[in-house]
Amino acid sequence: MIGEALALKRWLSQSRLPAAGVQALRDRKLRAVIRHAYDNVPYYRALFRAAGLSPADIRTAGDLPRIPVTTKDDLRAAGVAAITAAGIDLAACAVLHTTGTTGAPFAIHLTRGELQARRLIEFRALLAIGFRPRDRLTVLGPMQPHAARLHQRLGFYRSVNISPALAPGDQIDQLKRSRPTILWAYPTVLRALLGRLDDRLDTVACPRVIVTSAEVCDDALKARIQRGRSIPTFNFYAANEVGRIAAECTAHEGLHVNEDHVILECLRPDGAGGAGDRGEAVVTSLDARAQPFIRYRLGDGFGFTGKPCSCGSPFPLIGAPAGRPGDVVTLPSGNVLSLQPLSFLLRSMNGLDQYRIVQESTEHLVVELVFRIDPGTGALARLRAGLIEALGEPVGVDVRRVDALHDDAPKFRSFVSRLPVGSGAHRRSGGARAALESPARGGLA
Ligand SMILES: [Zn+2]
Repeated sequence: MIGEALALKRWLSQSRLPAAGVQALRDRKLRAVIRHAYDNVPYYRALFRAAGLSPADIRTAGDLPRIPVTTKDDLRAAGVAAITAAGIDLAACAVLHTTGTTGAPFAIHLTRGELQARRLIEFRALLAIGFRPRDRLTVLGPMQPHAARLHQRLGFYRSVNISPALAPGDQIDQLKRSRPTILWAYPTVLRALLGRLDDRLDTVACPRVIVTSAEVCDDALKARIQRGRSIPTFNFYAANEVGRIAAECTAHEGLHVNEDHVILECLRPDGAGGAGDRGEAVVTSLDARAQPFIRYRLGDGFGFTGKPCSCGSPFPLIGAPAGRPGDVVTLPSGNVLSLQPLSFLLRSMNGLDQYRIVQESTEHLVVELVFRIDPGTGALARLRAGLIEALGEPVGVDVRRVDALHDDAPKFRSFVSRLPVGSGAHRRSGGARAALESPARGGLA
């Protein structure tokens, strides 16, 4: 407990360094992680050697582009032994699972110290938005129960997790009982609950602050949560691979990248890009030792604002990340299409609670919809016509109204591909990039 308190103090003081101090710390941690990966992780040693690099070549974040980008498929293909560090007891590690568009699980190993660092960075982000000792935090969305820590058993910084695997009625009961002052919710889970509650969140919980993460929280959902009241809402951004990447502060001018924990790069297909330009997220963890992630492609679309925040934090600001372009529909021609134009059409449906797009084959999409109010006559036919137009190739689209969506995966996904692994859906083609560059195509923007 004392060790953890000291570690928290260190993380907090790092977030108050001047920008130059943060950069010096970041580069020092980068050199250490590069040296460690080269010496102990076969995958990275081979990668650096193939690129003609030695650890001494990477001195600062500015040198990172010399290292080739790694994808989840690269790491999965290399195998656990090649991507984890020699001398790490994997059996003693915590394991997180993530799935990509393929649905194939990928394991991430974390030492106890790495887990603690993640927890403390999370805690730092919560403190920054006003988490107080007597607050009650309810996290709506993760599958794992919260392990109560000593200070929480004593009644400080209490938090509970509510699993989306519970029946909606049980989720609502737990939400009521937990009486959150801070509600941290995964948007798809919250959206489904709001549907059950007639959009009256205040009938079961009256948090003073709402945090959203894990998925994109659109303005329509924000408006539904608020219902005319003004509850401060904060967007947090993380990935299972590296933990918390960025979090919004009370100035609401963007999300601050935890630059003492990760280096986030904005990769544009043409290699160019200045402030404000959007590109794909590539991340390097400065704290992962058991299983390093160096220039790892996350794929979320985002951009740096290029402006300092009025809150005075030394951490750089990014705009809210958009969905992952890894979620793409593969068309009969082999081209791929970003989901954004499709989800844009779906989100504009009146009374829609939740949706899922299932790609059964390159010629066949099924769209399942849960409505809380009747969408009106002809609405589904119009939606279908809009989807077909947005797809732009001969794809059959079934639009189905269902009572509820069920999912066996640990995290609900609004897009499911049943295409065989290794088919065009899982390769990044020029088409995916074209779709990323013009996310609003589809004729409605
Ligand atoms: Zn700020």
